[in-house]
Amino acid sequence: MTGIDSREDESLKQRLISLTRDLMLMPGSASRPEERERCYEFIKNHFDTLRTVESREYRDNGIPSLVALPSGFETPDVLLCGHLDVVDHATTDSYHSRLENDRIHGPGAGDMKGPLAIMLELFHHMHTRYEGASLGIAITADEETGGMHGTGYLFGREGLRCGLAMIPDGGSLNRITVEEKGILHLELRCGGNPGHAARPWLGVNPVESLVARLDNLRKAFSSRWPADGGEHWHPTCATTRIGTPNQTINAIPSEAHATLDIRFPAPYTVEQLRSFVEETLGPDVDVSTLISAEPVHLAPEETYRRITEEITGKPAEFVRGHGGSDARFICHLGIPVIMSRPLMGNLHAPDEWIDATSMVSFYRIYERYLHCKLGLDQ
Ligand SMILES: [Zn+2]
Repeated sequence: MTGIDSREDESLKQRLISLTRDLMLMPGSASRPEERERCYEFIKNHFDTLRTVESREYRDNGIPSLVALPSGFETPDVLLCGHLDVVDHATTDSYHSRLENDRIHGPGAGDMKGPLAIMLELFHHMHTRYEGASLGIAITADEETGGMHGTGYLFGREGLRCGLAMIPDGGSLNRITVEEKGILHLELRCGGNPGHAARPWLGVNPVESLVARLDNLRKAFSSRWPADGGEHWHPTCATTRIGTPNQTINAIPSEAHATLDIRFPAPYTVEQLRSFVEETLGPDVDVSTLISAEPVHLAPEETYRRITEEITGKPAEFVRGHGGSDARFICHLGIPVIMSRPLMGNLHAPDEWIDATSMVSFYRIYERYLHCKLGLDQ
């Protein structure tokens, strides 16, 4: 890193590591609302000592969100955006962290307790040093289940606005995301004619019908959008769940169901992909939408790229991302979104990790960019 005092960096790193690990101990998710509340309260208390910042609390469908703004500001120039929820894992004992070879390991380390710790620390620093800086922070709790009651609610129904949003939930340290695929999560149902499994000729087996139709769908996707061997910048479809209500082995079930996770780049739309799936599956399969989001374009910010290169000493590039994020609720309002994040891996797996040194670099990138953007002296 260039021009940064290394002792200061070392103590910043220790603070970021311990805050990240504290946040990881509260694995808030859709199935653990009490942990979600605990983490929310913990973060809320973080703003208590800031005299010139006002916290506003929101709740939609039981899911809490917090927006902290400098007193008297409705629309900050820059808004830091993060989510405190994590993906569900089957056992709670996977929710612990360990520090090994300069990496924090454990569920939520990268997505996004580490980046959240960086934003909390930086927000605190900026408002202690520059009272009244036009910088806000929004923390939501349902990104992993669609974001509708968090970022979607704040920007949709509460009319939250900002000059620019920074979301460290995509890209990498030297890879700044400027485009994201759209998402379509579908649930499929196929009815049958139940009967004893010893006489299958008397019934219509919905599992067999559904599997045959899913196979047609798989072939239709790969013939219309053949693997390009590289970036896969085309629509993709994955079957993620399949089952029946059956409790027994010896009965033809009354129905079979499955879920699909479809991702697609612009200019395709949710409507086009849904029609394509419905037409391919045919009239015997009921299709309902669980989550849908159009593809988004983020802002290629040259200043941010230059600062990333200065701090890391390596080239930075604008990239396209396969995952979706809360950026979609903000971009369509014409608000630019900047998205990159520290080095991390195994996202959504129990052995997720984030690189601690890159968290310091990332903090410094955000810090320098905010100085530049908000016209503050270093
Ligand atoms: Zn995330």
